[in-house]
Amino acid sequence: MKNYGQILENVSILEMAAEGKCVAKVDGMVIFVHGVAPGDEVDVKLIKRDKKFYEAVPVHFHSYSNLRADPFCAHFGVCGGCKWQHLAYDTQLGFKQKQVKDALERIAKVPIPAISAILGSSDTTFYRNKLEYTFSNQRWFENAEKQVESKENNGLGFHIPGRFDKILNIEKCYLQADPSNNIRNGLREYCLANNFSFFDIRKQQGLLRNLIIRTASTSDTMVIVQFYYDDTIAIELIMNYLKNTFPQITSLLFIVNTKGNETIFDQTIVTFYGKDHIVERMEGLQFRIGAKSFYQTNSNQAFELYKITRQMADIQPNDVVYDLYTGTGTIANFVAKIAKKVVGVEYVEMAIEDAKINSQINGITNTSFFAGDMAKVLTDDFINKNGHPEIIISDPPRAGMDEKVVQMLLKIEANRIIYVSCNPATQARDLAILDAKYEVVAVQPVDMFPHTHHVENVVKLELKK
Ligand code: SAH
Repeated sequence: MKNYGQILENVSILEMAAEGKCVAKVDGMVIFVHGVAPGDEVDVKLIKRDKKFYEAVPVHFHSYSNLRADPFCAHFGVCGGCKWQHLAYDTQLGFKQKQVKDALERIAKVPIPAISAILGSSDTTFYRNKLEYTFSNQRWFENAEKQVESKENNGLGFHIPGRFDKILNIEKCYLQADPSNNIRNGLREYCLANNFSFFDIRKQQGLLRNLIIRTASTSDTMVIVQFYYDDTIAIELIMNYLKNTFPQITSLLFIVNTKGNETIFDQTIVTFYGKDHIVERMEGLQFRIGAKSFYQTNSNQAFELYKITRQMADIQPNDVVYDLYTGTGTIANFVAKIAKKVVGVEYVEMAIEDAKINSQINGITNTSFFAGDMAKVLTDDFINKNGHPEIIISDPPRAGMDEKVVQMLLKIEANRIIYVSCNPATQARDLAILDAKYEVVAVQPVDMFPHTHHVENVVKLELKK
């Protein structure tokens, strides 16, 4: 039995496990170690104990793994963002491939064909189209003594992992292309120079709360600034600063959010300048993205993911297709022209409104969209009204599908199911149930998020004869 805080010396890091942590074994105990690479030799400190395992962080490195690469970002190791920068990209891809294989073998335990090689992202930096930064008067300093009551404590950046109240001041982020870094740094400097107050999350006071930047391949750029209270003069000054300094901004919006948390879904959004949405283009289609709309964050790789999905779906002109968990209907609209009809279901009503608009602006007339909880919407009655699907595309959130939904898929007996997942473990769990009637005929992992442990996986299922 080991204790919290205990140091274990000369531990060999064995292999990459789930969630980006590595496994080590000491006296038969399994230890998941953060921030290391298989092959490292380290001293670790125990930080957590569960029934069957410990978690630990490295405190001293004796030798480094040859799988390591030099992290390119100055914030690496502190920022929660790109935690796999210390691994070469090919190594990251190998670990992601293995994560998919392990989930299918250990959790699904169903017969699977050879897993196709993971499709890497063409861009491994500046691949995100959306970032959200937080203003805070509780900036994180690695040296705690620096934390004094002064303006120095004001920061604009990302949350420190596990700390709701501490913000890492970001100087350069490699996740979003220009003008993202300039806008964030310019806005911070302007607000500091003019003594506008940064939010204090514990005391719930301060004007400036957060900054959202969304970019698109059309070079449309949306900036949303969130304030805590309505200081009209300060807001005018800040918004005019952004408008005059960054002509690239095509949608300049703000929110006065007086509630405890930063979520914007229930907030009124004011358009200060430009359009209230940006436009993304994909294969001749346009997608209108409002401030509250979801859009896949790696646009180029989303296009690859959708092409794989469409190819696996092998849609024929007379096919009725269901797109479950459709979000803003992007996949539904993407496949609509080759199908007889596409039915999209999603529980966020606003997303469904966007999905309908996206069909309209693209002249697509064979889609219909419904808002509601999948387990409740997908009934016999719904199928009778909307037509029996030949093909079902399902792209659920990390939790996977509700068991009721999986049972309903077994009952519907579509010829083919394309299961797009951002969590191979829950996907594997659902595949084990689908095995009653479906055979897995293709598996294609896709990397949407370089330098993170996240992996997307597309599985093609055929109804067993
Ligand atoms: N296919 C979309 C996004 C999928 S993300 C795209 O590529 O853009 C998963 C979606 O499932 C989210 O939009 C989320 O709101 C929705 N969702 C989550 N739980 C749900 C449920 N129980 N019923 C219906 N939709 C749900």
